[in-house]
Amino acid sequence: MSSAAAPADRTALVTGASRGIGRAIALELAATGAEVVVNYASSAEAAAEVVAAIEAAGGRAWSHRANVADEAEVEGMVKAVLERSGAIDVLVNNAGITRDGLLMRMKTADWQSVIDLNLTGVFLCTRAVSRSMLKARSGRIINITSVVALMGNPGQANYSAAKAGVIGLTRSNAAEFAGRGVTVNAVAPGFIESDMTAGLDKEPILAAIPLGRMGLPDEVAGAVRFLATDPAASYITGQVLQVDGGMVMR
Ligand code: NAP
Repeated sequence: MSSAAAPADRTALVTGASRGIGRAIALELAATGAEVVVNYASSAEAAAEVVAAIEAAGGRAWSHRANVADEAEVEGMVKAVLERSGAIDVLVNNAGITRDGLLMRMKTADWQSVIDLNLTGVFLCTRAVSRSMLKARSGRIINITSVVALMGNPGQANYSAAKAGVIGLTRSNAAEFAGRGVTVNAVAPGFIESDMTAGLDKEPILAAIPLGRMGLPDEVAGAVRFLATDPAASYITGQVLQVDGGMVMR
């Protein structure tokens, strides 16, 4: 890790970077000079547009399709990035889905797919990059969790359990990797404008947010940029940074 104020000349792998919050994170990290690998699952065109937007702004990026819940695809992606870029300095575990429903009626498949992608996916990507980061004795891992991991949410037992698991994983990995100079932190967004929240009834949500509005993907990306930056965040590990307009104050 250089002592520069921003992650210039580093490679950042951002999962689920074709849309929403991941897209904003990719653009934000690219603006600091980092080469960005835009991971996506099915939106090839959107991922290509993110790469084009980064390049149009003078940055460096390329895309890689991989399902983060698939062990072989994750291993293949990390191998490809290491071969092409030589290192992964920043990993942002952002890919996520919802399959909401009240617990009594929740299908096992909807429980499992959310756990597989939102929790096991973070484990698989972290394990895949850990060898090279630990060897390099530097690295930043930033996991996108959610405030519902802290407060629970009716209809989101699968999602809130997975996101709470991500916080446990963040803290265990932070403790495991600290001796090798690798930090692991989480960002917990509240309600952010994206495809994921597009169909929600906004009225009760806004009433619960002290700042009185939904957040923007750029506002989450700013927190990720901070956690990826030296020396601003180099002494921070195992933390959960809430970006929620004051929704959950602890
Ligand atoms: P989004 O707009 O629905 O975008 C989801 C992203 O994840 C897309 O780029 C999608 O890729 C990717 N993805 C989905 N399945 C994948 C898979 N199997 N492998 C790799 N990538 C996959 O969601 P968002 O709102 O930006 O959310 C991003 C993260 O923030 C998620 O972890 C979410 O849980 C978390 N979060 C969001 C909010 C919110 O209010 N929006 C609040 C708290 C936390 P494709 O385009 O290829 O499908």
